[in-house]
Amino acid sequence: MNWHTISEQIEKATGSTFKTISARALAGGDINSAFQLKGIQQSYFVKLNNMALAHMFEAEFDGLQEMADMGAVTVPRPIVCGKTEDQAFLVLEYIEFGSASKASDRLLGQQLATLHQKRQAYYGWHRDNTIGSTPQINSPQDDWPSFWRDNRLLFQLKLAAKKSCGGRLQTLGEQLCSDMGILFDGHTQQASLIHGDLWGGNAAVDKRGQPVLFDPACYYGDREADLAMTELFGGFGQDFYASYQQTWPLDEGYTTRKKLYNLYHILNHLNLFGGGYLRQAENIMAQLIAEIR
Ligand code: ADP
Repeated sequence: MNWHTISEQIEKATGSTFKTISARALAGGDINSAFQLKGIQQSYFVKLNNMALAHMFEAEFDGLQEMADMGAVTVPRPIVCGKTEDQAFLVLEYIEFGSASKASDRLLGQQLATLHQKRQAYYGWHRDNTIGSTPQINSPQDDWPSFWRDNRLLFQLKLAAKKSCGGRLQTLGEQLCSDMGILFDGHTQQASLIHGDLWGGNAAVDKRGQPVLFDPACYYGDREADLAMTELFGGFGQDFYASYQQTWPLDEGYTTRKKLYNLYHILNHLNLFGGGYLRQAENIMAQLIAEIR
């Protein structure tokens, strides 16, 4: 890999001299290859992927910027994104990670609730982005249940249909989508800035003990969608939930809506990986339909 173009772009974006001394490949990325680009004084975190996925990095750049502007929780500062001759790249501030503690869990709960207090007038965002490598549609809507139905569940169900997941999945999906309104009764909805892909692998703690969130799939939506996802794959401690609730308590009915929110990610996993996610999606839908009745 020739790092010259990226080093030049870093210099342009920061206004400071940067010469790459070494590039260390980092483990852990799901979709992209990741590197620590070391200069004499500075290090940067760089993700690379195919040219065709440049839009994915642009959306991640914008999401990190939007979160950084709010200032509620630390995110890697986005530096620059673009294309080399043959690859798309995203450059972020490099963050040295430390260890999580009860105190950092508590801080994250508080800071996430503060992030969620950033609002806008409509559900969605000014651009689409991706969830994993699947497109995520953020077309504006004034009504949250309609946004969730159209841009999240029905979109994934259509993708599943194209991948030959018809039958029971689609029948249950249609039924759920036509009856789900009742799950929102008594729930105050507002368009909050949410991370959008908040599983444990996208949260860490820096050397100062400050929580850090990265790899967002931001939009403005119901904050419960972020909380729900933290519970889907685990990794967030009791102190996190207690401090979130203390800062901004959740409405009654969250435990049921949580399933509706996580269904989106299960459908996405079905579309990305197939296999047992089909049964899991069908089971969640059947449970929700039973609870609605
Ligand atoms: P992907 O988009 O491929 O899933 P991530 O953004 O999740 O990649 O990053 C992959 C890994 O790199 C993360 O799990 C984390 O350990 C590390 N990482 C992410 N952002 C930074 C950063 N700004 N500085 C240092 N390491 C990072």
